[in-house]
Amino acid sequence: MISEQPRAEAVIDLGAVRANVARLRSLVAPAHVMVVVKADGYGHGMLQIATAARAAGATWLGVAVLEEAVRLRVGGDTGRILTWLAVPGEAYDEAVRAGIDVTASSCWQLADIVAATGRVGQVARLQLKVDTGLSRNGAPPDQWPELVQSARTAQDAGQVRLTGVWSHLACADEPGNPSVRAQEAVFRDALAAVEANGMAPGLRHLANSAGALTLRSSHFDLVRCGLASYGLSPIPQVSSAAQLGLRSAMTLRGRLAAVKRVPAGSGVSYGHTHTTPEATTLGLIPLGYADGVPRQVSNRAQVWVTGSRRPLVGSVCMDQCVVDLGDSAASPGDEVVLFGPGDSGEPTAQEWAEAADTISYEIVSRIGCRVVRRYDGGG
Ligand SMILES: *Cc1c(COP(=O)(O)O)cnc(C)c1O
Repeated sequence: MISEQPRAEAVIDLGAVRANVARLRSLVAPAHVMVVVKADGYGHGMLQIATAARAAGATWLGVAVLEEAVRLRVGGDTGRILTWLAVPGEAYDEAVRAGIDVTASSCWQLADIVAATGRVGQVARLQLKVDTGLSRNGAPPDQWPELVQSARTAQDAGQVRLTGVWSHLACADEPGNPSVRAQEAVFRDALAAVEANGMAPGLRHLANSAGALTLRSSHFDLVRCGLASYGLSPIPQVSSAAQLGLRSAMTLRGRLAAVKRVPAGSGVSYGHTHTTPEATTLGLIPLGYADGVPRQVSNRAQVWVTGSRRPLVGSVCMDQCVVDLGDSAASPGDEVVLFGPGDSGEPTAQEWAEAADTISYEIVSRIGCRVVRRYDGGG
């Protein structure tokens, strides 16, 4: 008999995504919500998440790179899309043609954008990014006046239209961290410089999920929410997803590929980092680090199987890992849930993040392409 259940899958609850986006909208209104769908929608599937986000009223979608933005358009999205990460010499032609909002963090980037408008014969929708203290992308304050002036010149020449001015927070996940207020102040100065140059800044935006959830003064006209849209808490030390009114959208599950009884003293997996203290039953899970199960969770994480939480034992391998089933009766083919919303007692992506000494962003966004995505609650 051919099984209908795949070996391993990530089930994505699109109803949860819609509910999360609706929740974020009501929290930040009158500010608008941009749902950030970069990196294949944080591993959830970019186009499916985009559709769910739009259905729930996201007026913007955000992605890191140009190819992602163009793929959204080709996939049928007709709304506003912002992209922000580029290297010198990138061809903005397709993005300009597709009416995608592109970001300049520097004069060379603006020059690349303007060059594309010449080739395409269309005005580029431009946003300017200022570095207010993250020290990553964005023009540093000392280069801001020059970038603003160049944008003014390009706008006067009919090459670009300024649609927004923005920046990104470093420590919004630590409510009360003084750097957040300091970044807000630098951002306000940057906005004032744009206005002093005779330009309307368009949409002003600064907040990520954590800012959206914790600090109203960071909302401005628009908030850019990635993680919270997927139902995970960006401030897990302060509030759980449930406390924030969010529901995790991804459940990672598989089916046992083998079940075997082993005696006490059995070394498990590469390097024998675990030895069974007594006779037990081991289950083989067909998911490994190539599928996004971090090797760091070896001997640390738990999974939900046969109605209880059981520990992973031994090293996580590239394609598989091992669960200690104890004396529970399990058979090959039985379902194992690695993480999910936590309803039935299964661990959450946040718990996996803690077991791996990382953040839940990394747990979901690294789920590999071998894991089938299945969508629940579409339409
Ligand atoms: C990824 C990203 C976001 C979303 O951050 P979350 O913490 O997931 O909400 C927002 N803005 C920029 C510039 C990003 O790169």
